[in-house]
Amino acid sequence: MLSLRYIAPALFAAAACLSPMSATARPEWNHGAQTENGQGPDGAGWGHIDAEEDAAARGHLFPYAECSLGSHQSPIAINLTQHPVAVNPGPKLEPPQADHNLPVEALAHPLQFRIHYDRSDSSREGLEVEADLHNHFVFENNGHGIQIAFSKGYRGRLSIGHDTYHLLQFHFHTPSEHLFLTGHSQNPHTVHYDGEIHFVNQSDDGRLAVVAVLLDGHAANSHSEFDRLIDRLSHFHSLEETGATAFCTEADCSGIRLNPMKLIPHAHAVYTYQGSLTTPPCSENVNWYVLDKPLPVSDRAIHALNHMFPYSNRFTQKVDGLGAAEPRQVHAFPYHPAVQHVRR
Ligand SMILES: [Zn+2]
Repeated sequence: MLSLRYIAPALFAAAACLSPMSATARPEWNHGAQTENGQGPDGAGWGHIDAEEDAAARGHLFPYAECSLGSHQSPIAINLTQHPVAVNPGPKLEPPQADHNLPVEALAHPLQFRIHYDRSDSSREGLEVEADLHNHFVFENNGHGIQIAFSKGYRGRLSIGHDTYHLLQFHFHTPSEHLFLTGHSQNPHTVHYDGEIHFVNQSDDGRLAVVAVLLDGHAANSHSEFDRLIDRLSHFHSLEETGATAFCTEADCSGIRLNPMKLIPHAHAVYTYQGSLTTPPCSENVNWYVLDKPLPVSDRAIHALNHMFPYSNRFTQKVDGLGAAEPRQVHAFPYHPAVQHVRR
């Protein structure tokens, strides 16, 4: 799930713990219909979902068509077979997939890549947080997962070269969406992590840069910031109906301090490629930055996440399906955690 914040304004409804907002004009979708091999690149069939009548009248007959027709869909399996990496015994190892993505290549000129996420305090503002000039975040349930959405006044940002991207929100998937194809070329295997966090950043001119952090749920020690956050999310998870967007506006939701930098692992490299949103409408305007090392978290926290929204991962988008997908080139560049972790 990687949805833009506040896709459409919605009517305010009853003040429940999570105040339900009306569904947008977009038709319903879910992760459930995916098959590994049956339906080409868009295994969930999102591209074939017909619009509702009012949307059709505006010409959006198949509003998610890009999910099926796009040539740069996400997620993908990142091909590390020419530079095999050691993997902890924790993640699930699966047979190699026939994704045929090109082996990762080093970027000729490494990017200046800096994560500057600030501390923030939760508020109960709901939709209004978007215009809030203070440093706040809210818990938002969009029917496909819970995301942490930041106010306009939040200063957390991502710097890539001379470009600045503001952190809009982050959210979770279980298990991970991106996979790694690694091991010796004679005997490769696929590494599938237990979960994935997407930090969604946007530039002033609308470009999206998403930082993907894999989650390894076999940590020897639990991760206190992550566990604390997941415990909170579990409290707020009262909606399972899909299509609705809701914000936690209860008193319980205010005054929670969060430091997203603590959710950034001590990675050594970043894998980058051009891809798409991993949820409808699957728009191909996303530059992905996948960190090479996972965040070690507790098995309990992974179970809690998966209990809230089971199997919320889009399958990797294959290049040998019915669509026009092409083998993907992923580039790697070094990451310098010592610089990243000064803001604590
Ligand atoms: Zn996502």
